[in-house]
Parts: sequence; C-alpha cells; structure tokens
Amino acid sequence: MAQEFSRAFYRSAAWLKCRAAYIASVFYCCELCKEAVGTSGILHHKISLCPENINDPNITLNWDHLEYLCVRCHNQTHSDNLPVRGDVKFDDQGYLVRR
Ligand SMILES: [Zn+2]
Ligand SMILES: [Zn+2]
Repeated sequence: MAQEFSRAFYRSAAWLKCRAAYIASVFYCCELCKEAVGTSGILHHKISLCPENINDPNITLNWDHLEYLCVRCHNQTHSDNLPVRGDVKFDDQGYLVRR
C-alpha cells in the first residue's frame, strides 16, 4: 500500500513512536466519526507525503498535520484524490466495489 519512497519511513522507530503516541492522545477513536477503532485505524497525513517531504519531520511527524481515522473515513478523505478506476467506486463502508 505504501509507496516505495515512504516504505522505510513507515517502518521507522520515529514514526511508530509518533503514531502510538498520537493514537493514544485521541483515545483510539476516529477523529471524524468518533468510533473507537483501537490501533487498527489509519494515521492520515493531511499533507500528502512525497519524495520531497518524506525526510522532513516537521511534516511527517508533526501532530498538526496528522489525523487518526477509521478505514471508512480515511477512504472518504482520499476518495477525491485517489486514482480510482472508472469501473469501481467506494461503497458506504468505504470498500472498493464494482460499479
Ligand atoms: Zn471514522
Ligand atoms: Zn491518508
């Protein structure tokens, strides 16, 4: 799922520590729908990571730019800019389904 340039970042101790602390700070709940998701949610970067900013901790590890979301809300957040094929769409659970 993670792109090549960000693979090492998502495995880094700094990120895992940041992620765990952030998730605890929002009480393991999705920030949009407030559903309790434990640690299975997705810590979303409001600024899309790219090869230019992946090594900038002011962006990658900055809590101001993070949002903890359940899978469904995360998919909705990305549904505007995801390269979704014309023959699929997101259903109301946030899963990709055929049109
Ligand atoms: Zn949610
Ligand atoms: Zn995201």
